[in-house]
Amino acid sequence: MSTIFCTGCGEVMPADAQFCAKCGKRNATLATETASTAATSSAAAAPVGPDVIPAPTERDYTPGAKSRITAGILGILLGGIGVHKFYLNKIGLGILYVVFCWTAIPAIIGLVEGIIYLTQDDVTFGRQQMVAVRRSSY
Ligand SMILES: [Zn+2]
Repeated sequence: MSTIFCTGCGEVMPADAQFCAKCGKRNATLATETASTAATSSAAAAPVGPDVIPAPTERDYTPGAKSRITAGILGILLGGIGVHKFYLNKIGLGILYVVFCWTAIPAIIGLVEGIIYLTQDDVTFGRQQMVAVRRSSY
């Protein structure tokens, strides 16, 4: 049987022992092996101990995701030239707003749409606009 030195107290201990018999410290060699095995068996598992909380990730972030709040404010302020439609990838509708911007109608519609966006929840907004939505912070 091979022996190793304890990382805690330097005592000689069996290489396959889970804990040091003298100080009770976990066998670092075995701990490393366990961690690397877990990492390879599951791609999602991060090589951190069970007591470590992973850094918060921006789970709701999707490239190209739209902000409901931004769309609403654009609709209210610049709805007359369809800026909120361009923002939501609705280019054809946006052009229609621009074409009719000399009337007051797109501005009124944009204002109403902007208010609707701001009062909707993110999920409803995303379904109606058929866009990925960046979760609002409130
Ligand atoms: Zn020890």
